Amino acid sequence: MYRLAKLDVTAIQRSDSPPTRQPETETMNITYTTDGSVRGTCGHKHRTVEAAYKCLEEDQQGCESQGGYSDRHVEQTDGDDLTDSA
Ligand SMILES: [Zn+2]
Repeated sequence: MYRLAKLDVTAIQRSDSPPTRQPETETMNITYTTDGSVRGTCGHKHRTVEAAYKCLEEDQQGCESQGGYSDRHVEQTDGDDLTDSA
């Protein structure tokens, strides 16, 4: 075990570039969010497109009740370019 761990460290130090993730990791990391230039993103990572549309609908209804509208639309993401920090 110990020798293995030591070997791994050496391998990491020898490679200049960090391991890059394949962009084509299908479906596993696919999430959906809603985004609009005025409303911004909902900040969620919806796991299904249905959930994203539901979120979009709720936002639209919320906007309508205040006399406005939501310019959000559903976007598909690979889950990496979205953070929950907002
Ligand atoms: Zn949402």
